[in-house]
Amino acid sequence: KRITIAIDGFSSTGKSTVAKQLARELGYVYVDTGAMYRAVSFYAMRNDLITPTSFDKEGLVAKLDNIQLKFIFDPDLGYAAIYLNDENIEDEIRTLEVSNYVSKVAAVSQVREKLVSQQQLMGKEKGVVMDGRDIGTVVFPHAELKLFMTATSKERAQRRYKELIEKGQEVNYEEVLKNVEERDHLDTTREDSPLVKAQDAIEIDNSSLSIEEQFEKILKLSLD
Ligand code: C5P
Repeated sequence: KRITIAIDGFSSTGKSTVAKQLARELGYVYVDTGAMYRAVSFYAMRNDLITPTSFDKEGLVAKLDNIQLKFIFDPDLGYAAIYLNDENIEDEIRTLEVSNYVSKVAAVSQVREKLVSQQQLMGKEKGVVMDGRDIGTVVFPHAELKLFMTATSKERAQRRYKELIEKGQEVNYEEVLKNVEERDHLDTTREDSPLVKAQDAIEIDNSSLSIEEQFEKILKLSLD
């Protein structure tokens, strides 16, 4: 039987790695909702609606109808890349600059409304793995399997730092750690849909598990 799998948790807990692997193994669709919030943030950044010192929320809300997002499967990546108004921005959204803006953009209720309804549409058919912050609580409160992934902020920052360096970005560990901790704070304290573990979610602390161990555990849960 095909089900809906919601994977939530803090930044860089390895949610997307597990979600992608699981979707591939089960023949499910994978949806990275963080990429959608990042894409809206990238749009805001490119249109000077957000800078390190300012955020024109009303301006962004007024332009939301001009933002069309879609995912198109990329065989080289092995998952779907995100497109903003027909432009592939999969690489552009993964920078530390976008990471520094995204939690502010994600706190805007109108942004969440738009993206949540699009996510609900994408997950209408069973057989989807969706990762984010509010999937098990808001987007799919009736998901058959809900996971909540955690790890310490230092481990998460270390993981994110390595990824960014591997992509050739010039960052230092301290600024990555600062970003991870700031996002944790903003994501858990925002008024609209703050990041919380759904009551019926299974918590997976992956500080001590290897990716393979973690994946075996989760695959078993999804087949039960
Ligand atoms: O998952 P990722 O780290 O790419 O998400 C980036 C940011 O997008 C999060 O820190 C959070 O602010 C926001 N987000 C959200 N709700 C989701 C997914 C992401 O608010 N479902």
